[in-house]
Amino acid sequence: MSYLREMILKHGQVFPNNVLKVNSFLNHQIDPIVIEEIEKEFYKYFGDRSITKVLTIESSGIAPALLVAHHLGVPMLFAKKAEPSTLAKEDKYVTSVHSYTKNVTSNVLISKEYLSANDKVLIIDDFLANGQAALGLVDLVEQAGGETVGVGICIEKSFQPGRQYLEAKGVDVFSICRIQSLENGKVTFLNE
Ligand code: 5GP
Repeated sequence: MSYLREMILKHGQVFPNNVLKVNSFLNHQIDPIVIEEIEKEFYKYFGDRSITKVLTIESSGIAPALLVAHHLGVPMLFAKKAEPSTLAKEDKYVTSVHSYTKNVTSNVLISKEYLSANDKVLIIDDFLANGQAALGLVDLVEQAGGETVGVGICIEKSFQPGRQYLEAKGVDVFSICRIQSLENGKVTFLNE
């Protein structure tokens, strides 16, 4: 069993609306061993695809994305949720993302300076639920004229349609853990 799966079973807490709280090892306090394992799995799956950049969204994707980027020897870029006052409108790519956990829609952005048509991009995030965050990141890559090589997810809630939406766009999705159900407060994994 993967260490991430073990930690989910030991410390994950199921909240209403099918939200899994993993604050003790991934979303608030971060267990470096979990991140190291995630990084190795992503590298094993995506490592040979000539990736030039790893893209995530602040803040929970940053830790795994940074380690993968380090292993690949490329920069890690994260989409920002707040508008930096130093960035003019014409200098950024912007997309709108609906947050599953906060139930708000907001703009996320990256500076045009750091993403170009030459980039082959690996997108990383902590969770995949309805796919809005990942689809927003795919949109930012498209706006830059770059290529999304794939999406790497730490915890996929496979009972929600995120993977379906991404695959319908031809995106290769790889998840470390795939959760089949959070019913009755119990975590059940796919392929258990
Ligand atoms: P999506 O955009 O795929 O609907 O949701 C993914 C985003 O929402 C992730 O970036 C993550 O921050 C958050 N998220 C979605 N579901 C969960 C969950 O069950 N637990 C936690 N902690 N975050 C979630």
